[in-house]
Amino acid sequence: MINIPKGTKDVLPAESYKWQYVESVARETAKLFQLKELRTPTFEHTELFQRGVGDTTDIVTKEMYTFRDKGDRSMTLKPEGTAGAARSFIENGMASGVLPVKMYYITPAFRYERPQAGRLREFHQFGVEIFGSKSAQTDAEAVVMADTLLKNLGLHVKLCINSIGCPTCRAAYNKALKDFFAPKVEELCYDCKTRFEKNPLRLLDCKEENCKKINADAPQILDYLCEECAAHFESFKTCLDLAGVAYEIDPRIVRGLDYYTRSVFEFISTSIGAQGTVCAGGRYDGLIEQIGGGAMPAVGFAAGMERLLMVMEQSGVEIPAPQVPTVYLAGMDADCRHKAFEIAIALRKQGVIAEIDHMDRSIKAQFKYADKIGAKYVAVIGGNELAEGRANVKCMATGESESVYFNDMCAYFSNK
Ligand SMILES: [Zn+2]
Ligand SMILES: [Zn+2]
Repeated sequence: MINIPKGTKDVLPAESYKWQYVESVARETAKLFQLKELRTPTFEHTELFQRGVGDTTDIVTKEMYTFRDKGDRSMTLKPEGTAGAARSFIENGMASGVLPVKMYYITPAFRYERPQAGRLREFHQFGVEIFGSKSAQTDAEAVVMADTLLKNLGLHVKLCINSIGCPTCRAAYNKALKDFFAPKVEELCYDCKTRFEKNPLRLLDCKEENCKKINADAPQILDYLCEECAAHFESFKTCLDLAGVAYEIDPRIVRGLDYYTRSVFEFISTSIGAQGTVCAGGRYDGLIEQIGGGAMPAVGFAAGMERLLMVMEQSGVEIPAPQVPTVYLAGMDADCRHKAFEIAIALRKQGVIAEIDHMDRSIKAQFKYADKIGAKYVAVIGGNELAEGRANVKCMATGESESVYFNDMCAYFSNK
C-alpha cells in the first residue's frame, strides 16, 4: 500500500464540486474586473525565488522544494505565485505592451512545512497581479476585487490596511525602529534578534507573545511616510470610501518582504469560529526590478483556496450541490439495456444529463441506485416497452408515471 505524501490531500469526486464552485466564483469575479488568466509552470529556476521572494525569508531558507534536474540545474517547485507571474511579465515583453497588465492565477504551490501546524505542503492559491500602474486607485481596485470575491463566496470579512512607505521613508522608519528596539534586543525571541539586524520592519510581524508586548509601543510607519507616500495613502483611502468598502488602519501589517511598498492589506474573517486572515496583498513596486526587469509598479493579492473553503465551511456557507441526473434509464435484459444505452447517448447530445446501469443490476437494484444518485426521473424499459417502442417514465418526486415513446424522449426531457 503506497500512501499519499505527508502534507498533501486528494480532492475526492464527492468534494470537488466545492473547489469548482470557488474557482468559478473567482473566475467570474476576475472577469468583472477584466483580469485575464495567467498559467505559469509548476517549477522555475531556484534563483527566481531567491531573488523574487527574498533569500532571507523563511520560505526560501527553510521551506522550498528544490531539486537538481538531470541537466544539473537547480529547480524549485513554486512556493507562491507572484514570482512566476513577474518572470513571465518580463520574459514575454509585457512591459512594452499595453499597460496595465491585469492577470489572475489559480495555482498549486509547495512549501515544506511541518504538517502538525495544520498547513499543507501542496496547497492552492488564487492570486491577482496588476503590473504597470502606480496609481492608488489601482491599489483600491485590487482591494475592491478581493472584497467582491470574498462577499460573492458568502464570507463576512474585515479589511485592515496600512502603508509601509517607499525605500526613502522606510530608511527613516527603520532607523526609528532600531533606536526603539536597541535597548530591548536581549528580550526578543531568537528570530527577532536576526530580524533586528537584517530587516527591522519584520519585528512587528512576530507572533511570540513577549515580542508582541514589546512591539505595542514601537513607532508607527504612518508617522514616517514621506510626502508622496502620504498622498498615495490618502488617495487609497479616498477610493475605498468611494467604493463603500469599510476598513481599519492597522499599523501592524508590514508584509515582511523587501519589495513591498506603500499600500498593504489583509482581509480577516469575522465569522464566529472562523477568524483569521483569508486574503492578503499589497503594492510591490520593487519586485520586477529585483528579478531583472526595469522599474515597474505592481500591486496584487492572494488567497489560499484551502483556507477559503475551510472558512466557508466553518461559517456555514452553502455551496450549491452538483447537478443530479435528469433521467436514469433502467433496462430489464440485455436488449433493453442496449436501448437504454442508445437513448442515453441521444439525450446527452441534447444536453440532458442521463445515466444508465453499468453493473448488471436487477431492475429493483437499478431503481435503488437511481434514487441514491438523485435522478429526477427513472425510465424503465422492459420487454413489453421495448416491443412497443416506449418507456415507462416515473417522476421520483411525485411517484407519478407516464408512457413516453423513445422518439419523444429528447423533447420530453430537454426542459425537465
Ligand atoms: Zn515614501
Ligand atoms: Zn519575536
